[in-house]
Amino acid sequence: MFKKVLIANRGEIALRIIRACKEMGLNTVAVYSEIDRDCLHVHMADEAICIGPADSSKSYLNIKNIISAAIISGAEAIHPGYGFLSENPKFARVCKLQGLKLIGPSEENIRKMGNKSEARRTMVEAGIPVVPGTKDVTINADEGLKLAKEIGFPVIIKASSGGGGRGMRIVYSEKEFTDAFNTAKSESAVAFNDDSMYIEKYIEEPRHIEFQILADEYGNILHLGERDCSLQRRNQKVLEEAPCSIIDSPLREKMGEMAVKAAKTVNYVGAGTIEFLLDRYNNFYFIEMNTRIQVEHPVTEVITGIDLIKEQIKIAKGEELKFTQDDIKISGHAIECRINAEDPNKSFRPSPGTVEHYFVPGGNGVRVDSHIYSGYRIPPTYDSMIGKLIAWGKNREEAIARTRRALDEMIITGINTNIDFHRKILDNKKFLENQINTSFIEKEIM
Ligand code: ADP
Repeated sequence: MFKKVLIANRGEIALRIIRACKEMGLNTVAVYSEIDRDCLHVHMADEAICIGPADSSKSYLNIKNIISAAIISGAEAIHPGYGFLSENPKFARVCKLQGLKLIGPSEENIRKMGNKSEARRTMVEAGIPVVPGTKDVTINADEGLKLAKEIGFPVIIKASSGGGGRGMRIVYSEKEFTDAFNTAKSESAVAFNDDSMYIEKYIEEPRHIEFQILADEYGNILHLGERDCSLQRRNQKVLEEAPCSIIDSPLREKMGEMAVKAAKTVNYVGAGTIEFLLDRYNNFYFIEMNTRIQVEHPVTEVITGIDLIKEQIKIAKGEELKFTQDDIKISGHAIECRINAEDPNKSFRPSPGTVEHYFVPGGNGVRVDSHIYSGYRIPPTYDSMIGKLIAWGKNREEAIARTRRALDEMIITGINTNIDFHRKILDNKKFLENQINTSFIEKEIM
């Protein structure tokens, strides 16, 4: 099938994909914006093409330029990574029209699952438990308030096209509702070019549990267990673990079956994630599906020994999955810390600038996925995540000890990072006792 892959992304995920391609004997084409000339992905790929100015709407989101780069370089496939165009139905359509294989979801898969309220409806029809909430999108605040009263406060107002923790508002009482609704709606119109909203019951102090799915073109679908992504700040993940130590085998089997069913319902092909909220009584509810590789995919790779990017590529090549559900064995425990260039002491303000010294931790069970190097200038233009530290241990205790040890070794000077913030999490008694939920960071660490 294809021999040359264009990577329509930057940063650590571009490196991750280039590495997988190299190991599979595939040629790689990097694309970059003018400000990213010195980025590692530009140098690590076999070829690199500039696709526009720093502003991502003119480069990494510029479909025309990316497709032109693919055609000029003779790439036959495109890997979109996460973010940017990874869940853009138009991009999927244009790739298909141009005869380029997208190593990602079909336009139809994105349309069915990418829109959150649409996905909810599909899941209800398939008999998957969803958070109690509205059936259709809600157009105005009055209608919304009526529905919120029916659901019962607290509720969460969400943007149908939302993502990355944005476009959401928690409302505890009737009198806050109208303002919150209207603010969320206008924010969503600007951020997502879509102001359709829906309302869900706000589940208090749940865990965020997501299942990794792999599906090939021949109807084989399986899951690779769960990740616990409860540690979030402003609904954005900070530290992830796999597996979730409070989930026993019967619950894992039940949730896994539902996740597979959810993917089957939309005839999903590729790697995807089914996200659930798990309440304190072990009730679980579907919240959304991500039709792309996720930032936190390494924790699953580490405990299953399966390379998810290579599997994505093999599926795109039309290969059949070489393993079944019974072959998936979870070994030990993994933790990922997202390392961000930000200042936790100044409201987590992004901290771009030049990295003076960078020392990468190593040793048994430690993996670092990062694109920075000593002397690298982090541009102010993009996401503040500059890398991920992943540690494996034979159990949660060892994984925590190893993560702490590796964080102690890690040196990044010249900019501010959240390394100390991660240390605080790892030292917290409740974290050590695995008593975590999505409010943990706000309540215990901030
Ligand atoms: P995004 O696509 O922006 O990441 P999600 O729907 O995945 O949005 O939700 C992100 C996080 O927001 C969840 O992990 C959870 O912490 C919180 N959240 C979302 N829906 C609810 C809900 N109904 N009740 C409580 N928390 C929620």
